[in-house]
Amino acid sequence: MDMFRKRCKQLGLACTHQRLIIYRALASSASHPTPEAIYDQVRHEIPSISLATVYKNIKTFTEAGLLREVSVLHDSLRLDANLGNHHHLVCTRCKAVIDIPEEKLDPIRLRGKLPDGFVADRFLVEILGLCAACAKGRTN
Ligand SMILES: [Zn+2]
Ligand SMILES: [Zn+2]
Repeated sequence: MDMFRKRCKQLGLACTHQRLIIYRALASSASHPTPEAIYDQVRHEIPSISLATVYKNIKTFTEAGLLREVSVLHDSLRLDANLGNHHHLVCTRCKAVIDIPEEKLDPIRLRGKLPDGFVADRFLVEILGLCAACAKGRTN
């Protein structure tokens, strides 16, 4: 949380109690939660908070680079407070998103230029499949 306070200061972002609680909920979750799941968690500590407020703060965090959206192509927004380089294992059945360290894959290199003058920023690999629980045939 000291990192969060420091980053807020650097970014000129007010480090309010509300933001601390929301960020803590995000940072303590490795399951790439939806904004709704964060709202459910934060509500225990701040009963008066609204889903709109949670959305607004998540947007602020994302714009400030404190948070990443897992993929713009997923049906629902999934959030990632892990800013280290990593890729994702995505369960196509239960939609679990599991971090996999970059070292688990061979480095990705481009062969020549990308089409249409596209400039690559970073690589994110999504490996689709079934998580252990779904592979065992459980519904969850
Ligand atoms: Zn699964
Ligand atoms: Zn992740």
